[in-house]
Amino acid sequence: MKKKNPFARLDRFFSIIEKTGLALTYGDVRLRTGYSETDPKDADISTHFSRNVPLKCPLVSAAMDTVTEAPMAIAMAMFGGLGIIHKALTAEEQASQVRRVKLHLNCLIEHPICVREDETIGEILARRQEKGHDFHSFPVLSTTGKIVGLLTRNDFDVCNSPKATAAQAMTPFEELVVAREETSVENAYEILRSNHKKILPLMNESRELTGMFVFSDLKRIMSGMLSQYNVDADGHLRVGAAIDVGPSELLRAEMLLQAGCDVIVVDKAHGDMRPVKDMLQDLKALKRKYPGRDVVAGNISEPESAVHLAKWGVDGIKIGQGPGSICTTRDVAGVGCPQVTAGFNCAKAVRGMGIPICLDGGITKSGDIPIALGIGASSVMMGLMLAGTDESPGEIKETKKGRVKVYRGMGSLPAMKESWAARARYRQGDTPKDKLVSEGVESVVPYKGAVIKILEKMAGGLRAGLGYVGASSILELQEKADLHWLSAAGQAESHPHDVSVTDETQ
Ligand code: 5GP
Repeated sequence: MKKKNPFARLDRFFSIIEKTGLALTYGDVRLRTGYSETDPKDADISTHFSRNVPLKCPLVSAAMDTVTEAPMAIAMAMFGGLGIIHKALTAEEQASQVRRVKLHLNCLIEHPICVREDETIGEILARRQEKGHDFHSFPVLSTTGKIVGLLTRNDFDVCNSPKATAAQAMTPFEELVVAREETSVENAYEILRSNHKKILPLMNESRELTGMFVFSDLKRIMSGMLSQYNVDADGHLRVGAAIDVGPSELLRAEMLLQAGCDVIVVDKAHGDMRPVKDMLQDLKALKRKYPGRDVVAGNISEPESAVHLAKWGVDGIKIGQGPGSICTTRDVAGVGCPQVTAGFNCAKAVRGMGIPICLDGGITKSGDIPIALGIGASSVMMGLMLAGTDESPGEIKETKKGRVKVYRGMGSLPAMKESWAARARYRQGDTPKDKLVSEGVESVVPYKGAVIKILEKMAGGLRAGLGYVGASSILELQEKADLHWLSAAGQAESHPHDVSVTDETQ
């Protein structure tokens, strides 16, 4: 007996659309509602960014220099999503951003960063800044490698000379609370809580440091908050990073993987081309050294391209040629496919292969997300929605229109002039700066405060969508998804109309 096609509804819808020759995007369609037993708050919104990189929430932040560095990636992973650190950084800087995310939550810090007793406070602070560490607690070791004390923020604050040695400024061993190396998370939490301490160094019989617990991390774990975080098997936040193609980028990939990066994203404006194929081939060898880490590639918008990427061995595919808010590729080069048609066609082309699809760009409201996932994507990547927040890179500017932050395309002239990686994304790595052809714009967006507020709205909208369709999970949403194609009047009716909106937060 022929197996029933679980996606028959959508296939039927798009076969009709295809006959018209039209390609659709988010504003053109809405999901049909259906009988529901789903309470939105109980809906399961977990999915995957790539084969081995799960998401507890399908939201991913864009690899852009005004969107994702370590603070955004940390916030995204703590919300259950993922951040992709942009590549307009040196390989060292980018790897250090990755390390910051990986070190942010340490259940057990197996190799704490230590200082020697004869180092000066000035030297230690300079190294801390150079390495981008955002913590202030360092175990102090003797020249023979034994723990002799601990430097904490308080010790740095009260030390009045940068020339003082660690031995002079530290809290000495005799005043520390320490524990044996086999101490459990529960015991460590209890020891720190009852002693009012923040750091618990662990040591073996020879007084050598074997690890360290930090109270704030333990508290998160004990209070169950970790269950929402997107963490790897060692309890570290997951993070991705973008690279370009070519030999220097292979070295970058290796540095990123060494730093603990969970997923490398080969990030090109056009992902279906020979240099990407070659790069994916080269990355295969590297991946064997780092089992469980993934390679995602993009961007593409045609089903044939999805088949190519699948053949070249990717663990995830990123779709989007021209939907981005700051993007001018479609105007400049006259190419691209509206995002809903692109997403459906590409997802269908690799259906059953276990390769998650990420729809990148063009999300302007939470309602776009259930549509993206309904047509077959496993996650959405966003730039605009997350730009202008506390966690996005860049300063807040006071303007006549209020507080703003810069949000710019990686193919905008300012970004391309500043960074080889931005030029390379648009295949202009060798182009003189006065001959660059931009494929994006620079803009400002209102300052929005903490990104978690936006993420909560996005996830809330997605859950509501699942509730209306009557799906309790993303897979069920895909099986139940069917679309209405909207007329111009239908589109107008879909937004607030015939009123003056007074609540500007919408
Ligand atoms: P948004 O969420 O703002 O609609 O789109 C963000 C996405 O736009 C990014 O993840 C990236 O794929 C794409 N993008 C970023 N900068 C540019 C650019 O300058 N030109 C083009 N064509 N796409 C861009």
